[in-house]
Amino acid sequence: MSTLWVLGAGQLGAMLKQAGTPLGIDVRPVDIEATDELPLQANDIVTAEREEWPETVATKQLATHNNFVNLATFPQLADRLTQKQWLDRLDLATAPWFPVEADSSAQHAYDTLGERVLMKRRRGGYDGKGQYWLKQAENSEIPDDWKGQAIAEQAINFDEEVSLVGVRSKDGEKYFYPLTLNLHINGILYASISPLKRLDQYQSKAETMLGKLMDALDYVGVMAMECFRVGDDLLINELAPRVHNSGHWTQAGSNVCQFENHVRAVMGLPLVSAEIKNQSMMVNLIGVDLDYQWLSIPSLELYWYQKDVRAGRKVGHLNFCTGNLTVLETALDRLNMPAPYPQAIEWLKANLPA
Ligand code: AMP
Repeated sequence: MSTLWVLGAGQLGAMLKQAGTPLGIDVRPVDIEATDELPLQANDIVTAEREEWPETVATKQLATHNNFVNLATFPQLADRLTQKQWLDRLDLATAPWFPVEADSSAQHAYDTLGERVLMKRRRGGYDGKGQYWLKQAENSEIPDDWKGQAIAEQAINFDEEVSLVGVRSKDGEKYFYPLTLNLHINGILYASISPLKRLDQYQSKAETMLGKLMDALDYVGVMAMECFRVGDDLLINELAPRVHNSGHWTQAGSNVCQFENHVRAVMGLPLVSAEIKNQSMMVNLIGVDLDYQWLSIPSLELYWYQKDVRAGRKVGHLNFCTGNLTVLETALDRLNMPAPYPQAIEWLKANLPA
């Protein structure tokens, strides 16, 4: 079997490696700052754990390899402007928007999108970074350094946020996990829960939307679609051409997790419909210290990313999976974590099936 190189050596790369190991696949995440000559072979495969990257010695070697799967898709989706254009072209619902140009005015934003408008930087924004609210009531103006660099989006008064993770093979075969319900606090994902019976009614609509996109891009591997649910409608907020944080629960809750599915797809291995186990939840560890007492909590699985702990930084996650809902509730009661975790824990409890 050939080697699978991953552009990027963060937690997603590490989890791809973990998933590839039992399949006998040598998965090698590459630090983008690495300066060594990589021993790339002609029949190796290259993928990425991030949608954009600076040009470095390492990324240049990887991005010029003939087998870099989805290479042309990354710049299309990494730029919010071209991503929105793709959605519009395919007639997929998304929050109303316009590009912020050199001569764009806040008044135009209020006139066309309403009194609250969210500007998002075209590139590099993640976890709520790269956002700027324009509020008519406060007479906000567009700062000069946002002109030509951002899109402006209508504020969506959504009922809840859901995401869909799907996988597509080279032959166009597609499989999807059940929709995941997500809680973001200040733009950053804190908790997920899946599967939920009450979301079943949106599943086929979501699959059709993401499937259309993956087909149009001739995409191979795992892609995630984050949506706002507004009544019966799903509006696409964001697409990620890679494994995604809202799919981490599949490590505990599915016989084939998102990381294995991505490895299988890009390596041209068979895909199957995943078996979903029991009830899963995921809690991101954001700016909190490692606490091995968590391991005494039944149903819990710890993933610690070996990063320095800093406020607002994702340093790990906890997966929970069991068929016993009382065990999940007890687990949540035992998670003694600082603000804003009590909010996330209450949210999980409120959304667990009765
Ligand atoms: P993003 O970086 O685009 O994924 O946004 C992060 C989070 O900000 C989302 O998950 C939402 O909670 C919130 N958000 C993003 N776009 C909007 C919008 N148009 N209206 C309201 N909230 C939004």
